[in-house]
Amino acid sequence: MRTHVVIIGSGPSGLLLGQLLTRAGIDNIVLDRVSKDYILGRVRAGVLEEGTVGLLREAGAAERMDREGLPHGGFSLAFDGRDHRIDLLGLTGHQVMVYGQTEVTADLMEGREAGGGQTIYEAGNVTPYDFDTASPYVTYDKDGTTHRIDCDFIAGCDGYHGVSRRSVPQQALTTFERVYPFGWLGILADVPPVSHELIYANHPRGFALCSMRSQTRSRYYIQCPVDEKVEDWSDDRFYDELRRRLPAEHAESMVTGPSFEKSIAPLRSFVAEPMRFGSLFLVGDAAHIVPPTGAKGLNLAASDVHYLFEGLREHYAEKSDAGLDAYSDRALKRVWRAVRFSWSMTMMMHRFPDAGAFGQKIQEAELDYLVTSRAASTALAENYIGLPY
Ligand SMILES: Cc1cc2nc3c(=O)[nH]c(=O)nc-3n(C[C@H](O)[C@H](O)[C@H](O)COP(=O)(O)OP(=O)(O)OC[C@H]3O[C@@H](n4cnc5c(N)ncnc54)[C@H](O)[C@@H]3O)c2cc1C
Repeated sequence: MRTHVVIIGSGPSGLLLGQLLTRAGIDNIVLDRVSKDYILGRVRAGVLEEGTVGLLREAGAAERMDREGLPHGGFSLAFDGRDHRIDLLGLTGHQVMVYGQTEVTADLMEGREAGGGQTIYEAGNVTPYDFDTASPYVTYDKDGTTHRIDCDFIAGCDGYHGVSRRSVPQQALTTFERVYPFGWLGILADVPPVSHELIYANHPRGFALCSMRSQTRSRYYIQCPVDEKVEDWSDDRFYDELRRRLPAEHAESMVTGPSFEKSIAPLRSFVAEPMRFGSLFLVGDAAHIVPPTGAKGLNLAASDVHYLFEGLREHYAEKSDAGLDAYSDRALKRVWRAVRFSWSMTMMMHRFPDAGAFGQKIQEAELDYLVTSRAASTALAENYIGLPY
């Protein structure tokens, strides 16, 4: 088999890149090691920046999002028993879209199938070869046979645990990492959200986030120790703990109901540099991870796709490699800004084991400054809605 671009991974970055390339007339094949149903069962991000929304429209996968997504012009910071709204729209003129990653993925898959794009699910042993040459290829196992796809470029869109980054010689990579000493215990439940906008709560008992996927489906999180067991958290125990961390008005009005998803996610910041090795490009979580506090993971994957798509389009349409040559630097510049923002939100909102009462007071003073200074609120809002590409 031969194609222009082999895309390893059919998460949001692989599927979005695939759709943009197909619409630009650039052949591509997507490979994933798991099944379509497994991918559609994953519950992850839910807040889309305007840049991501724009890319989904460009990819022709935005019809349902534009109909069902919830535009949010603000969110709340809750601390010291009170709620403080950050007016994203008023401060920046921009807003975010609440629409689940699972839905984004389903829409992109549907678009790909409708356009005849080829995706090979349950491809075992996917391996990129010769990406230090202009004739790379990828092999994979399926139905007891090893297959080979020759290509011009390989896009490594296979997440943090994927094969692409691991295939790069170690001495060619520099990695940066911070692991946080806690996780997020999250539930998904078909109950109306406690507020029509997101609430990020700083409380002496730990961080909490009230998010949603729709007007009838809530996504709630509480900070917990990383070694906590999901089985030890009944729904009642979860809701009791969540209520304790919220201002009274929300705790009292919260509607509860059985969860149908409950999991603990560890929190880390990670960046691998550079993001290009010859004809192999790392995209999204394959190159970087951020803690979900700033809602940046999926959005960073989308901005990487934007830079890579522009480079590939220029390569094929204009016979110029300027965009591909600039890919790693352009993507990393934006990545580091989002890594900084996600780190700062994480530091400001969570209880750290060694912070003590002093640490709590410092966080509250920082939050108080943030919500009373227009300049500080604007800086927060600018980062939250997403820095320009
Ligand atoms: C539990 C959890 C909760 C999260 N919550 C949030 C949130 O609230 N907000 C936010 O912004 N972000 C969140 N994120 C991050 C966000 O989901 C990711 O940034 C986003 O999924 C990145 O997309 P991606 O396409 O780069 O990688 P992924 O979504 O990880 O997709 C990678 C794909 O590659 C495939 N793959 C992996 N290895 C191989 C291989 N060897 N061969 C072939 N295919 C392979 C995988 O099966 C997968 O389909 C969360 C992540 C996790 C794990």
